[in-house]
Amino acid sequence: MGRLLLEQAQKLLLERVHKIEETEAVPLWDAVGRILSEDIFAGHDQPPFARSPLDGYAVRSADIREAGVKRPVRLSVIAEVDAGYVSERCVVRGTAVRIMTGAPIPEGADCIVGQEDTDYGEDTVEIYAPVGPYENYCFAGEDYRKGTKLMEKDTLLGATKIGVLASLGRETVRVYRKVRAAVLTTGDETVLPGEMLTGGKIYDSNLYLTAARLKAWGAEVICREHEGDDAQAVAARIERYVQEADIIVTTGGVSVGKKDIMHEVMDILGSERIFWKVAVKPGMPTLCAQYRGKLLICLSGNPYGAAVNLELLVRPVFAKLSGREDLRLRRVQAVSESSFLRKSAVTRYVRARLADGRVRIPEGSNASGILSSMCGCNCLIEIPAGTLALRVGETVWAVLLEGGEMWQA
Ligand code: AMP
Ligand code: MG
Repeated sequence: MGRLLLEQAQKLLLERVHKIEETEAVPLWDAVGRILSEDIFAGHDQPPFARSPLDGYAVRSADIREAGVKRPVRLSVIAEVDAGYVSERCVVRGTAVRIMTGAPIPEGADCIVGQEDTDYGEDTVEIYAPVGPYENYCFAGEDYRKGTKLMEKDTLLGATKIGVLASLGRETVRVYRKVRAAVLTTGDETVLPGEMLTGGKIYDSNLYLTAARLKAWGAEVICREHEGDDAQAVAARIERYVQEADIIVTTGGVSVGKKDIMHEVMDILGSERIFWKVAVKPGMPTLCAQYRGKLLICLSGNPYGAAVNLELLVRPVFAKLSGREDLRLRRVQAVSESSFLRKSAVTRYVRARLADGRVRIPEGSNASGILSSMCGCNCLIEIPAGTLALRVGETVWAVLLEGGEMWQA
C-alpha cells in the first residue's frame, strides 16, 4: 500500500465521523469549554429594574434645572436606598432619595445627582449642578431585553458566556456530551511513572501526553492504559472500550518490525483498514482502521511522531466529533529565524516557537524520538516534500498547536 498525502488521510478519516448530537445538562460551574446545544433567550430584562450608576441622590431633573455652586438647590431627603433594596418612598417635587450604586431608582425620580455635586446632606441636601432627564440613569433592560436571543447553539462556552448565563439565573445549561476517547499505548519497553526503571525500560510518555492533549480539547478520557507487545492482549483491550469510546488512539507497534503488533491486532479484531502510512515525517507509519463503527488511530510509538500525528490526524477528527470548530487545524505564514538544513523527501513537520510572525526552531534535534525540545513550542513548521533546505528569512507555513479557542468568549 502506498503512502497517502496528509490531506487524503484526513479526508478518509473525516468522512467516517459525525458530530456527536447527544446532549446533557451540566451545572454552569462545569460548563466552560463545552459546546452549547440550545439557543439561549433572555427570560427577563437585565437589569430587571432601572438602577443608579452612582452613589448620590435620586431627584426630579426639573427640580434642579437652575442648580449651581453659587445657587444650590435645596431638597429634602425623604429616604435612603441601598443596592439590593427597594425604596418605599416616591420622589416628589422638592424631595430627593439618597441612593447607592445598583439600587433601584425610586418612582418619580428621572435622574441621579452624583454625591460629588452635593453637600452630602442627610436630612436636606444642597445640589450644585443640574442633571438632565435620564442622565445618570440605567434603564431596565439596558443590558438585554426579555426575549432577546443571546447565544446560538453550537457555540463554545467561555467565561463571558458563562457570566451572561449566570446573569439569566441559569444554574444549568444544555451542552453536547463530551467526546469519549480511549488511549492505549503499547510496548514491552515502557513502564508507567511510579514503577522502577530496569534494564532496557523507559517511562511511557505517550500515554500521558496523548491523554493530556485529549483532555485539553475537552475529551472524557475513558481509558488510559498500557499494554505490552501482545497482540491478543491489545485486541482484548480495544474490544473492552470500543463500545463506549467515540475514538480510540493507540501508540506504538505500527512499523515493520517483528514486534509491530498492531497489524496483527487489526486482523484479530477483523477491523477494516482505512490506511497505513501517511507521507509525513515524523510518524509516517500511522495505521488507521474502523472497528464497530469507531475510528482506531494507531500512531507511531516515537514520542514526537505520536505528538505530531495526534495534531495532524486526531485533532481534526476530534474537532468534528465534538463540534469544536476552533480545534480545526490552522496554518499561518511566518518568517523563519532558523535554518533547517536537512532534505525533506516527504512533508516534514518541525517543532517551533511562533511569536509576532516569526518562527524559531529550538536548539537540538528534531528527531522523532525526542520530546523534550518540544516543550514551549506552539507550532509545527510545515516543510514541503522535495525541499532541500530551509534557510533563515524564508517564509514558511506553520500549523498552530494552540487550538486558538477564545476562552473569554
Ligand atoms: P514503536 O513505534 O513501537 O516501534 O516505537 C518507536 C520508538 O518509540 C521506540 O524507541 C519506543 O521505545 C518508543 N516508544 C514507544 N512507545 C512509547 C511510549 N508509550 N512512550 C515513550 N516512548 C515510546
Ligand atoms: Mg513498539
